Amino acid sequence: MSDVMEKLVSLCKRKGFIFQSSEIYGGLNGCWDYGPLGVELLRNIKESWWRSMTYREDVEGIDASILMHAKVWEASGHVEGFNDPMVEDSKTNERFRLDHLLEEAGVECTDLTFDDMAAKVAELGLKSPKGNELTAPRQFNMMFRTHVGPVEDSASVVYLRPETAQGIFVNYLNVQQAMRQKLPFGIAQIGKAFRNEITTKNFLFRTREFEQMEMQYFVKPGEEEKWFDYWKQERRKWFTEALGIPASRLRWHEHGSGELAHYARQAFDIHFEFPFGWDEVEGIHNRGQFDLGQHEEFSGKQLKYFDEAAKEKFVPAVVETSIGASRSTMMVLSNAYDEEEVKGETRTVMRFHPKIAPLKVAILPLVKRDGMPDIARKIEADLRDHLRVFYDEGGAIGRRYRRMDEVGTPFCVTVDSDTLEDDTVTVRERDSMEQNRVKITDLLGELTNRMANWKHPAA
Ligand code: ATP
Repeated sequence: MSDVMEKLVSLCKRKGFIFQSSEIYGGLNGCWDYGPLGVELLRNIKESWWRSMTYREDVEGIDASILMHAKVWEASGHVEGFNDPMVEDSKTNERFRLDHLLEEAGVECTDLTFDDMAAKVAELGLKSPKGNELTAPRQFNMMFRTHVGPVEDSASVVYLRPETAQGIFVNYLNVQQAMRQKLPFGIAQIGKAFRNEITTKNFLFRTREFEQMEMQYFVKPGEEEKWFDYWKQERRKWFTEALGIPASRLRWHEHGSGELAHYARQAFDIHFEFPFGWDEVEGIHNRGQFDLGQHEEFSGKQLKYFDEAAKEKFVPAVVETSIGASRSTMMVLSNAYDEEEVKGETRTVMRFHPKIAPLKVAILPLVKRDGMPDIARKIEADLRDHLRVFYDEGGAIGRRYRRMDEVGTPFCVTVDSDTLEDDTVTVRERDSMEQNRVKITDLLGELTNRMANWKHPAA
C-alpha cells in the first residue's frame, strides 16, 4: 500500500469516516462500514449526483428492488458472461485475477481475449506472486447466488444484483408511460450492487458490496453516438464542477476490444489518479439495443416504444453512465488528502469541495466564559437549519482548528472578545487559513457565497 493510502485508511478510521466491516470478528474482506462523517460525505456525493442527473425534464428517478426474477440475469447475459478470468496458486490456493497478474508482469491486456491471456501465461511461464505454479485459467462468475423462500431448489434461485441497470431496463415502459416521456429520456437510480470479486483491494476501490449511481438514456436507434458524446461531456463536468476534482487528475480511457463488456458496443471510462495509480471511476457505455432486445425475447413481452410523430414502433437504444458511489467516495477522499508544513509542524488537511464536505462550519467560542459559549450556541442554532454545523468548545483554539482541518471542515467561526463589542466573528478558511471578521447577521450569506465560489487549490 502506498504511504498516502496508509495514512488515508488510518485517518478514515480515527476520524469516523470508514470502519472495517465486522472488525471485532477480524473483519470481512471487501466490505466497509461508513461512520458518522463517512456517511455524511457519501450522502452528499449521492445527493449531488441525484440533483445533477434527475433535476431536469428528460430524466426520471427510480429505486428498484435488489432481488429480481432470476430470468433477468439470463436475459442480461450475466449468468453466462459476467465472469472474470481467474487463476489459483497451486500450493496456497490463493486466487488472482488473471488480467491483473499479467498487467503486473508488464502485459497490456486491453485487447486480449480470455484465450489470448491463457496463452500468455503459458508463453511467459507466469508464476504466482509467491513463486508457485498457477492452475489453468478459468472463468469465474461474480454474481452472489441465494434462494428465496424456504425451499432451496433451482426454482428458488435469485441473485444479489451485480449492477443496478437491470432494474431500470425492466421498468422502462412503466416509467415512460407513467410520466408520459418521449424519446430521448433517461432513468436514474442509486443503489447497492454486489460482486464476488476475486480479489478486493485498495480500500473502497474494489469491494464486494458497493453502491452504484447509474443512468440509462433511451434514444432512437442511430442516435446513440450523439448522445454518447453528450453524456461523456456532462459526466466529466460533474467531476470537476460538483466534486472539485482538478482536470489534471482525470483522463479518458477507451475500452479495447478485449475489454468491452458483453453488452457494450463502445465504452469510455473516466480514470482518476488514485494514490495507487490511474484507474476507473465511471464508465460511459453505448449498450445499443442489446438489453431491451434481450428482455423482449426472454420475457415474451413487447418492449417497443411507439413514436407518435413517425408512427413507428421500435426498441430504443441505450447510452449508460455508470459510476460507483463508494468508488467516488474513495476518489474524493484521495483527492482531498493533503499535508503541509505550518510553523514547523505538519498540518493534515482534507480539501473537500465545501458542498460535499461532511461538516460545513465549526462554531468555536474562544474561551468557555464571558458569555462566549451562549453567543456561539445561538449562532449554531441559527445556522443549523441551513448548514451541517459542529460545535466545539474543548481545548486550545489552534488544536480545534487542526481537528477541523483533518476532517475537511471548510470554515471555522470563532466567537471572541471583539464579538462582545461589535457583533462580529472571525471566519477562518480551511485551505488558506486566512481569517477575517464578518458581522453575525451576514454570516450565512457570506459562507454560502464562499462555498459556491470555491476552487481546489490545485485546480
Ligand atoms: P472494474 O473493471 O474496475 O472491475 P467494471 O468495468 O467492471 O469495473 P462497471 O461494471 O462498468 O465496472 O461498473 C460501473 C462502476 O461501478 C465502476 O466504474 C465503479 O465505479 C463501480 N464498481 C464496479 N465494481 C466495483 C467494485 N467491486 N467495488 C466498488 N465499485 C465498483
